Amino acid sequence: MSLTEDELRAAIARELPGVRADLERLVRIPGIAFDGFDHSHVERSAEAVAELLRGCGLEVQIVRAGAGHPAVIGRRPAPPGAPTVLLYAHHDVQPAGDPALWTSDPFEPVERDGRLYGRGAADDKAGVMAHVAALRAFGDELPVGVVLFIEGEEEYGSDSLDELVQTHKELLRSDVIVIADSGNWDIGVPALTTSLRGLVNCFVEVSTLENAVHSGMFGGPVPDALTVLSRLISTLHDEDGEVAVDGLIGREGATVDYPEDRLRHEAGVLDGVKLLGSGRLTDRIWTKPSIAVLGIDAPRTSEAANALVPKAKAKLSVRLAPGDDAVSAYAAVRAHLEKYVPWGAHVEVTLESGGAPCVIDATGPAFDAARAAFTTAWDGVAPVDMGVGGSIPFIATFQELFPQAAILVTGVEDPYAGAHGPDESLHLGEFARVCLAEALLLRNVAELER
Ligand SMILES: [Zn+2]
Repeated sequence: MSLTEDELRAAIARELPGVRADLERLVRIPGIAFDGFDHSHVERSAEAVAELLRGCGLEVQIVRAGAGHPAVIGRRPAPPGAPTVLLYAHHDVQPAGDPALWTSDPFEPVERDGRLYGRGAADDKAGVMAHVAALRAFGDELPVGVVLFIEGEEEYGSDSLDELVQTHKELLRSDVIVIADSGNWDIGVPALTTSLRGLVNCFVEVSTLENAVHSGMFGGPVPDALTVLSRLISTLHDEDGEVAVDGLIGREGATVDYPEDRLRHEAGVLDGVKLLGSGRLTDRIWTKPSIAVLGIDAPRTSEAANALVPKAKAKLSVRLAPGDDAVSAYAAVRAHLEKYVPWGAHVEVTLESGGAPCVIDATGPAFDAARAAFTTAWDGVAPVDMGVGGSIPFIATFQELFPQAAILVTGVEDPYAGAHGPDESLHLGEFARVCLAEALLLRNVAELER
């Protein structure tokens, strides 16, 4: 009854040009949910997505929680006895950053060497379009029920997502959840993402003086806050760059390795700069904690007077290994900073935001169905189980709310996608496979339940 593999291949090939055109249309809408940007574009972006979903025969509504940004929910009920699949992606994008760093206009999609360049071309407007492609391929013969949930503030921290998901719980109820916001292992090698690190962002502020004072008259016995802050920050790692905060959890266990030269190339590490920590690079990125300093509030060098700085503040970003939790990790970091602040300086630690790490038990029929679909779409190459160093905190929300559902974390990115950076791009050949894989996945899931 359902479409055969060959029919789905043909259908995806038929739909791809239209899908590409709609993807380009979405990329031209700079829907950025961050403060200080024109949020009318996020509204336009939600409208455009709603229109696409209506075109797939879904019943569509634009929803929001409080002052949150608009998400789009589209539904089509399951045929009798068939399961329902929730398809997640987000329509908002990261700010483009310095336009001078882009080869072409971030909001005018351009193809170069088989890649489509533009902000959101990969993260995550191609995720939206992969869902649309699969639905269009089936047309009226969709063998499962679907709920599309296209969020509008993922890049800005998904602040209202919990409330949205709670409010629309019945609408979103499903047997399988596909979160298309991650990526594949390499060009030609698909992946299922099965672990994600959590995140604690916090501020540490140190102070030594009531006011700035003359560095000649008082320098020597009187400590300045920037020297204090520098010494304190240096205690966060040991000599080899291993995180030195007691109480943070980490482990080893990746099944694939990340070649050092590939990581150096992808990250753009300068010659001679050493990598931190020890053990497999995949473990260091996926299942061990990391700490980075994101910014420091201090006088600019061009404006710095000959004065001892009374106060200095840093923003720290702590990535948490799967198995850790944000509350105890923040407590550990805070205790470390309070313990190691030198010279009796005053220290104040405050939390900005925290998100839970996540591990997915990727076994069972839905995962078998997904692996079979991916292997077919990649012409016999089976997907690897992949960790991700970054976070998608709301996966934990879905896990709590729908404990019976299998959660498949997929995506369109490859290692060269440059999400969040300049020259973000989508590999169009891989995108075609992603679309086919999703159509095959829906078919496999439908057959599984019968
Ligand atoms: Zn994303």
